[in-house]
Amino acid sequence: TELANIRNFSIVAHIDHGKSTLADRLIQSTGTVADRDMKEQMLDAMDIERERGITIKANTVRIDYRANDGQDYVLNLIDTPGHVDFAYEVSRSMRAVEGSLLVVDASQGVEAQTLANVYTAIEADHEIVPVLNKIDLPAAEPEQVRAQIEDVIGLDASDAVLISAKSGLGIPDVLEAIVTRLPAPQGDRNAPLKAMLVDSWYDPYLGVVVLIRVMDGVIRKGDNIKMMQTGAKYGIDKLAVLKPAMVDVAELGPGEIGVLTASIKQVRDTKVGDTITHEKKGCETPLPGFKPSVPVVFCGLFPVDSAEFEDLRTAIEKLALNDASFSYEMESSAALGFGFRCGFLGLLHLEVIRDRLEREYGIDLITTAPSVVYHVHMRSGEVQELHNPADLPDLTHVDHIEEPRIKATILVPDDYLGDVLKLCQDRRGIQQELTYAGSRAMVVYDLPLNEVVFDFYDRLKSITKGYASFDYEITGYRQDNLVKMQILVNDEPVDALSMMVHRDRAEGRGRAMCEKLKDLIPRHMFKIPIQAAIGGKVIARETLAALRKDVTAKCYGGDVTRKKKLLEKQKAGKKKMRQFGKVEIPQQAFISALKMD
Ligand code: GDP
Ligand code: MG
Repeated sequence: TELANIRNFSIVAHIDHGKSTLADRLIQSTGTVADRDMKEQMLDAMDIERERGITIKANTVRIDYRANDGQDYVLNLIDTPGHVDFAYEVSRSMRAVEGSLLVVDASQGVEAQTLANVYTAIEADHEIVPVLNKIDLPAAEPEQVRAQIEDVIGLDASDAVLISAKSGLGIPDVLEAIVTRLPAPQGDRNAPLKAMLVDSWYDPYLGVVVLIRVMDGVIRKGDNIKMMQTGAKYGIDKLAVLKPAMVDVAELGPGEIGVLTASIKQVRDTKVGDTITHEKKGCETPLPGFKPSVPVVFCGLFPVDSAEFEDLRTAIEKLALNDASFSYEMESSAALGFGFRCGFLGLLHLEVIRDRLEREYGIDLITTAPSVVYHVHMRSGEVQELHNPADLPDLTHVDHIEEPRIKATILVPDDYLGDVLKLCQDRRGIQQELTYAGSRAMVVYDLPLNEVVFDFYDRLKSITKGYASFDYEITGYRQDNLVKMQILVNDEPVDALSMMVHRDRAEGRGRAMCEKLKDLIPRHMFKIPIQAAIGGKVIARETLAALRKDVTAKCYGGDVTRKKKLLEKQKAGKKKMRQFGKVEIPQQAFISALKMD
C-alpha cells in the first residue's frame, strides 16, 4: 500500500469511556468482519479482560476503508492497554502509530487516565482527534466536556467528533476524520529494514507471534532477521496482517503493521520496543528509547495445599511464556512451604495473574503482602535490591534504605476533595498541585509506592463513591526511616506477614494487624499471643483466649443432616488452613490481615 493511503492510529481513553465499543463499530461498519462473525468487544480477547472491561494486551486490526474522496485506505488500529501498570507498553505502541482518537465519555468528562494516556500520545507526537462518546445519554454534556478538554488538556476540541459508539451514530464521521485529519506515515522503501517490535504473544498453534510496525525498508516472508537489542536471529516463517484474523501477506513495506512468526520459542525472547532488521545489510542504528519493563511489585504465591506445588509451577511457567513482564523464582518459607516469589508491573498485573492461576488452573493460593522493591544501601557501599522483607540483611550492615516514590494524579468532584486529601496525607503523601476544572479538582501528590500497593485504590474508590480517578508514575527512590515489622503468632514469626513499614507508622500498623488477626484466627484449645515486633522489640500485642467453639452445639442434637453438613463445611474450611507451629491460620486471614483500613 502507498504511504499516502495508510493511516495508523490508536484510541486513548479512560476505562469505560467506550474505546472497545468504538473499535467494534469501526470494524463492523467497514465490513472488516462479517456481521455474523461479530462478537462484542472484538479486540478484548482474554476472558478476564472482558469481565473487568480492561484491555491488557495491545491488540490490532487492519481496516480497509473507501473514503468519501473515492480512494481506498488502509487503517491500522492498535488498541493499547488501558491501565497504568502497562504504561511502558502503551508508550511503545504509541510510537508505532501517527495519531490518536481521544475518546471522552460526554457524560463523565476528562478522567485521570484520559490525561495520562493523552499525554503519552502527545509525547509520541501524535495528531489527536477528540471524540465525544455516549452523546445518546441524557446526562451527556458535550459542550462542557469540549471546554474541559481545552482547559485541562490544552487541546483544541472545536472539531471534536460527536458520537454514540453504542448506537453507531457519528461513526462515518470518525472514519473520515481518521483519513483527513491524521497524517500518513513516512518511511523509505529503499532504506535498510527498520521495524519496531510492538508486542508479542503466544499462540498455541503458531508459537510466538510478533506484532511489528515497519518504519523503513521491506520485510518479506523467508527473510533472515535480527533483533537488535537481544541479538537473536531468525528466519521468517509467516507474515500476515490482522483483520483481526490473520491473513497472510508476502511482504510489509514502510508504514505497514502486521505480524510475523519465526520459530521463536518463548515470548521472553522478544523485547517490546526492540528494533528488527535484516541479518545482512541491516540498519545501523536501532530505534531510540528502548527500555525493558521491570517489575515493581513483588509478592509470594504459595499453594494452600502443598501437594499442588508442581501444578503451581507448571501454571506459572505457562503464564510466563505469554507475559514477559512477569518474573518468578522459587521461594521457600518456614511457614508456607514451597512457593514462588513473583514480580509484577503493578497491582492490577498482580491481581490478573493471581486470578488466572486460581481460575484457569484451579489452584488455591496464599498471597503474601505485596512489597515494592527497596534499595538497601549497605555500609560496604553495595546496594542490594530487596524484593522480600524476609530477606532484609542484618541491620548492623545496613547504612540506609530507599523506597520508590510515585507521582499520583487524582481527579475528583469537589465534594470529596477533603477526604481524598486526608487519605493522601495519611499515606505519607506530599501535596504538589491542586487545581480546579469546573466542579472537579485535580490533585497531584508525591507518595511512597509502598503506601499505595495495599489498598489505596480501593480506599479512594470507596471514599469518593467511585467518582475519583487515579493514575501514577514512578518518579524515583528516596531514603526514609523504614523498618521491617514481623508478626509472631504463638511466638512463631509468620514470614508471610512480615512487611516493611515507615517507623512512625509501625505501631499503628502493628496494632491494627494484631487486632485483625485476633478476629481472623480461630480459637484453639490454648491461649495464643499475637505480636508485632521490630527487631526483637514487641510494639503491639493481643491475646486470643483459649476456647473452642463446637460447631454442632447449636443443633440441639436433633437434626442429623444439618449436623453433618456443618461438619463437612468445617472440614472444607480446614483445607484452606495452614499450620503455624501449633496454630492453624485460615487462608482468608492472610488476605484480610494485609488490607489496611
Ligand atoms: P472501554 O473500557 O473504554 O473499552 O469501554 P467499553 O467500550 O467497554 O464501554 C464501557 C461501557 O460503556 C459498556 O457498557 C458500553 O456498552 C458502554 N458504552 C460505550 N459506548 C457507549 C455509547 O455511545 N452510549 C452508551 N449509552 N453507552 C456506551
Ligand atoms: Mg475496553
